[in-house]
Formats: sequence, C-alpha cells, structure tokens
Amino acid sequence: MKEYNVEQVRSLLEAMSGMYDLARVVDPIECRILEFDSDGSICMNESCYGIWNAEQKCINCTSALACRTGCRQEKKEHFQNQVFHIRSNPIKMKLPDGGVYDAVLELVSIQKEPSATANDRAAENVDHKADHYQALHDTLTKALNAGAFYELARGKIVEHQGFSWVMVTANIMNFRLINTLFGVLKGNETLVKTSDALVEIAEQSNGLCGRLGGDQFALLLPEREYKEETLLRTAQQLADYYSSGLYTFCIHFGVYRMEDAAIPISVMCDRANSALRTIRDDLRKTVAYFDESMMQKSIFEQQIISGFDEALQSGQFKMYLQPLVGENGRVFGAEALVRWHKPDGSVVGPGDFIETLENAGLIHELDMNIWEQAVKLLRRWKDTDKKHLTISVNMSAKDFYSIDVYRVLTELVEKYGVDSRNLRLEITETALLKEPEKSDRIVATLKEKGFCVEIDDFGKGYSSLGMLKDIQADVLKIDMSLLDEIESKQRSRIILESVINMASSLGMEVITEGVETLAQMRSLAQMGCRHFQGFYFSRPVTIEEFEQIYDRLGKLEE
Ligand code: C2E
Ligand code: MG
Ligand code: MG
Repeated sequence: MKEYNVEQVRSLLEAMSGMYDLARVVDPIECRILEFDSDGSICMNESCYGIWNAEQKCINCTSALACRTGCRQEKKEHFQNQVFHIRSNPIKMKLPDGGVYDAVLELVSIQKEPSATANDRAAENVDHKADHYQALHDTLTKALNAGAFYELARGKIVEHQGFSWVMVTANIMNFRLINTLFGVLKGNETLVKTSDALVEIAEQSNGLCGRLGGDQFALLLPEREYKEETLLRTAQQLADYYSSGLYTFCIHFGVYRMEDAAIPISVMCDRANSALRTIRDDLRKTVAYFDESMMQKSIFEQQIISGFDEALQSGQFKMYLQPLVGENGRVFGAEALVRWHKPDGSVVGPGDFIETLENAGLIHELDMNIWEQAVKLLRRWKDTDKKHLTISVNMSAKDFYSIDVYRVLTELVEKYGVDSRNLRLEITETALLKEPEKSDRIVATLKEKGFCVEIDDFGKGYSSLGMLKDIQADVLKIDMSLLDEIESKQRSRIILESVINMASSLGMEVITEGVETLAQMRSLAQMGCRHFQGFYFSRPVTIEEFEQIYDRLGKLEE
C-alpha cells in the first residue's frame, strides 16, 4: 500500500474535494474524521458516522473493512432519497516522527435517488436481502452494529414484556495503546476476539451484543440470566490472552438494571457507561453498577448540557480574575477562571460543570467564549496603566480535538489588536502527559505564534520531570498539593525546592498556586519562587474588583 506523508494527504484531499461531493480521511477504529494541522500534526475531529444513515451510527462501515483488509472497498447507501456511493481507500500515513498511521480516504458521490420502476425495486429487494446480514452487523466483528443493536434491543424488550433486563456496556482500557504498540491489525484482532467472547455471553443467555463504536460494546441480557461471574471470567480469559510485559489488558463493564422499559436504549447505555466511568482507570476493578447517586449525577449533567447553549448566549458564563503576584507584592497579571451566574442568582464554580462539558464535547465553546472575554479586556487595558498586565486562560485537552486552537487564538488577538504575549495559555500537566509527543508540538506551535505557554497544575498528578525536558513551556505553575506538607515534612520541602530550581535553570518562570498564608509565601520565596497566586492575596474576583485590587497593590513600586 502506498505511503503518504501528511502534506501529501492534505494535497490529495484538496484535489479529491474538487472531484467528489465529499472527501475525507477517517480513522475507522476510533470512528473519527482526521484533520491535519499546518504543522503536520493530526487531530481527531468529530465522529465520522451519521452522514448517510438515520441512526447516526457506524452502519456498514466499509472503511473499517478497508482498513482491516488493506483493500479498497465500495458501497452504496440509500438515505433520505439520496444514494451515497462510498469508496473507502486504505492509506498509510507517514507521520513526522517516523510512525505510520493506518487510515482510510473516503470518497463519496451523492446522487438523488432515481424514482424506481417495479423491476428496479425487485432487483433492489434481492440486493437488500443479500445485504441484510451486513446491514445489521458490524463489519469488523460479529457483533450487531450500533443502529441494529438499539433497534433489536427495543424490539426484544417490547416482545418480552414483563421480563427484567440488564444493560451492560464494556470498554477496553487504553485500547489505543494496543494500536500504538502492536499496530492496527493486532488492535483489530483484539476487538474481534473481545467481541466473540461478548457475543457468546449474549447468545448463551438469549440476549444481544452490539459494538457501539471503537472499543465500546453493549450487551442486553435478561436479568435472570445475568451473572457477574460470567463477566469476571471473560475479563480474566481475555486478560490472560492479551496481557504482556508491555501491555496489561483490562476490560471494564458497567451495568444498568433496567427499571423502566420505556427508557430509550441509548439512555440505558449511557447509564451503564456512567457506572463504567467510575472504574475506568482502575486495573483492579472489572464491574461497576449504576446506582441512585449516579442517577442524580446523570440528571444534573443532563441539566447542564441542556441549559448550556442558552446560558452561553445570554452571557451567564463570566470571567473572574485571580491576581498573580510578584515577590514584591505587585500584581503582574491574572488567571481567568470561569463562574456560571445562574438566573436564580446562584454562582457556580467550574468544578461543577467543566468535566460534564468536556464529556459532552462542548468545552471548546465555553473556552472560546472565555478567551474572547479575556482578549476584550486586554484590549480595554491596552491604552491604560494596565497595559502590561497578562491574562492566563485555561484550555482543555479536548479543545485541540474540536477546534483549530491556533487559528482561533490568532484570529482573536488580531481582531482586537492585542499583543499575543499578554495572553497566556494554561494547559494542565495531565493533558500534556496524555500524548507527550503531540504536546511537544502543540506547545512549540503556540509559542511560534507568539503565545506564552504555561504548564498548569504541575504536581497534581503523577508528575514527570522528564516532561520538563521535552516540553518547552515558558511558565511552570506548581499545584497547591505540593505545598501541603512543606511546613512539616523536610522531604516535601526538598522536592518542591528542587522543582523550583530545576524549572528556573531551564529558563522557566515559576508560579506557585494556592498560597494561603504569609508563612507559605515566605518559605516559597526562600526556595527561590518569585511569583504567587492564592487566597492569601485574593480569591478569584470580578473584573471590577480585580481592577480595584490592582490599583491598590499593582502600582506599589511605580
Ligand atoms: P486551575 O486552573 O488550577 O485554577 C486554580 C484553581 O485553584 C481555581 O479554582 C482557584 O480558585 C483555586 N485556588 C486559587 N488559589 C487558591 C488557594 O489559595 N487555596 C485554594 N484552596 N484554592 C485556590 P476554580 O476557579 O474552582 O477552578 C478550578 C479549575 O477549573 C481550574 O484549575 C481550571 O483547571 C478549571 N477552569 C477554570 N476556568 C476554566 C475555563 O474557563 N476553561 C477550562 N477549560 N477550565 C477552567
Ligand atoms: Mg489554570
Ligand atoms: Mg492550576
């Protein structure tokens, strides 16, 4: 199979876009459209299903088949009086770092459905019958595809009224790693074997098994047939088969016991997934059950999601500012922290909604809004005594998958005529560590565009000192958790001091977050830290309050 570099794929796509109604490159395992940045990096964009089928799920994914077989595949889909002629061409992309990425170039022509004659319809019927199995089943595995699973599960529940059911979802932990470490073929084989094991469970208990996409599966089982031991045994067998020194295979199950038959199947799957998420990073746990507290959480999350658009449009998300203070007590900038001003008068902090918005794929909309509020304020300050102040905005790792972050930020500073150096960008250590090589490029590109990049929350997770070597950020923000024991424990003090020294020697500015007392600030200053943020100076406040604080503290030395 021919190998292309990313630039060649971009040109190929451009050329094909002129010839076909739709030309795109997809990752059929992740079910995502791939996008290419000017720096050669690849990002996963929105899901690739949903254009030619009503269920918006991966029905008849010819691209997965093309990827698996390495051969071009063709298929016609009929949807909403249109015929989609899909040609899935497997390609190998050579990545800038030397790696190879298996993807599929999808070329689609769309025609209006011709009004069929009786003969045509008869012929089509034969075709449809032949396609029947394929239409219901996922092309890679023997499981039902998502659309068929939803439909047949509903049918089963209706047919067997009075039965109690459980919905089980399954997900392979760090599945991406299998593709990365052993290649896509091995990844596919793992999916097939996992699917076979789950299909067997379903078949033995008169249930159904579907592949919802990627490495996500669902089982609908009669409650009386459901046994946790069966799931545990299957998980163990798969783990024994696939675990190696390099990779520990772990499959997690979320279980929702159906209470109301009228609940949509997709909601039942969401609930089982909510349970699954509570253990998804835990190698020692295999099965989790949906319970009342998750129900409350899921209702709460639904409220956030359904109210989000309106709240964003009506300006309910307000940027608060927390001062960043130098060792001389002078305010030199601020961190922008969002607060949700609800119509009932309550003010909600980001801890209550950021994660939900991230999971719902909405966080970039909020972030772009806050970035714009920050840039507007920098514009207002530009002609005043506050022109040297910086604002640090937070970014979510998900932003990079949803939008062209570089373009959005560059356009913003250009639109408002603001110096990009005054807008600082905070990316959390955990986000950067997820994909270290990619992060390296992201940070480098942001710096090239003139932005100052800050590593946020350093020390909150499993910090990697190696990361300081690879990722050339301008600022290191040390998380307050590293401050906890500096008063009482000599070892914590030594670690903190070493981090401060190391970052300073690497030319990074160090800011310690969460400074609550004068004693903490003094200890930190002794260790060589020159910049601070924390309740000792001020909590996050409104713009007006911040300006007052600045007028009081900012100009001390002027
Ligand atoms: P962060 O970026 O690390 O922000 C610092 C958090 O520490 C803020 O919490 C701040 O109020 C809190 N903090 C500051 N000084 C102290 C202190 O002395 N003691 C204690 N106990 N806490 C202190 P907040 O505002 O609740 O924000 C939480 C997190 O939410 C932020 O952590 C950030 O990761 C995220 N976040 C906030 N605004 C946004 C946003 O607009 N977009 C995104 N994507 N994330 C945001
Ligand atoms: Mg931050
Ligand atoms: Mg932080």
